[in-house]
Amino acid sequence: MNSEFKVSAREFRPQKFSEVISQEFATRTLRNAIKNNKIAHAYLFCGPRGTGKTTLARIFAKAMNCTNPLEGEPCNKCESCIEITAGGHPDVFELDAASNRGIDDVRAIQDAAKFYPIKGKFKFFIIDEVHMLTIQAFNALLKILEEPPAYLIFILATTNPEKIPQTITSRCQRFLLSRFKIDEIILKLREVAKERKIKIDEESLFEIARLGDGALRDALGILDMAISFSGTGIKIDELKEFLNLPDKEIYFNITTYIKENNAIEILNLFNDLMNKGFDLQTFYTGLTEHLRNIIIIQNTQNEDLLNETDVIKSNYKKHSEQFSSEEVLRLLNLLFESEQKFKFSFNQKVFMESLLLEMIKLNSEIVNFDKLIEELKEFKKKTLNPELNNIDEIIKKITPQKDPLIEKLKELFDIEEHRN
Ligand SMILES: [Zn+2]
Repeated sequence: MNSEFKVSAREFRPQKFSEVISQEFATRTLRNAIKNNKIAHAYLFCGPRGTGKTTLARIFAKAMNCTNPLEGEPCNKCESCIEITAGGHPDVFELDAASNRGIDDVRAIQDAAKFYPIKGKFKFFIIDEVHMLTIQAFNALLKILEEPPAYLIFILATTNPEKIPQTITSRCQRFLLSRFKIDEIILKLREVAKERKIKIDEESLFEIARLGDGALRDALGILDMAISFSGTGIKIDELKEFLNLPDKEIYFNITTYIKENNAIEILNLFNDLMNKGFDLQTFYTGLTEHLRNIIIIQNTQNEDLLNETDVIKSNYKKHSEQFSSEEVLRLLNLLFESEQKFKFSFNQKVFMESLLLEMIKLNSEIVNFDKLIEELKEFKKKTLNPELNNIDEIIKKITPQKDPLIEKLKELFDIEEHRN
């Protein structure tokens, strides 16, 4: 392998707006702003990690300072473009607010405003994770934004826009960058694998893209690890072993055991997983995802909404028929409610064990509730008590009318709709 191996996320980072996959609204708007010379002094790029916020900021800075721009795109050949790509342009500053929050950084921001650009037409200040700035730094920033010098452009990037003072956000032009769709990530992974002359099967591409969870950078990082492990060919079996991924089968077994009320088998299976060294957080997320998949199939019958391979999709169809929506929703809700406790638990293994047992218990209680209704109906037949004649009305009264779980489900579908 090349001795000067650069990580893929950097090596294959887009250098022009047209190379950015997804985020079309942002790229088109920024290009048009450059072409029409309608530039704001402050931009706010919001979005989850790994969605290309700083990449976009750099392309924008390049295009604005390029000596030979074309259609709002940087040429990537002039001195200014090359310097910005290399991170050495004297007028383009990058600050990571997560690690630079002191008084010097406030001063750097103030200085940015005072002095003219040395080389370029514009001076750029790119602040990543801007919500982490101290109050003093925000105040310094605000002062500048109230009367920005013509040559100064701020690009603020954040994963948590709600934590930025409104006085700042109201002075910014805001762009929302979305997570990448799984197909978009697969496309990029395939391209990178081809460039690196790596053979990779479709299932591996799919698995890596899925693990990226909407963040291209993460997916590329996993691909790099897989390459360094497997060499020139990546196969799904090796990949699973290397990433220590639990087989999907495991989650199907877990829900089957819950359904069967089988505490012994569920604990055996779980301990077996732990002995093999599987990551608990991956397991927790995997189980949540599994229950979500069942619900999606139950309610939409649309397999395409699942981020899974075809074989697994059809497994979900069969598997979901064994459960009522209510059963699955209750289990899912328990996982949601316990997520924080799980994260901060001192003994996650024991926590998870008790959670699995609780899931069994929760599920058997629902079964008992159904049984109870049946028994009541039987009882009704046997008695002549007029008050019990209208048993259906009584059942209606004791069944909760508005279930918070239904609200949670709606939320889930909303998220899904945004993704697609
Ligand atoms: Zn250029």
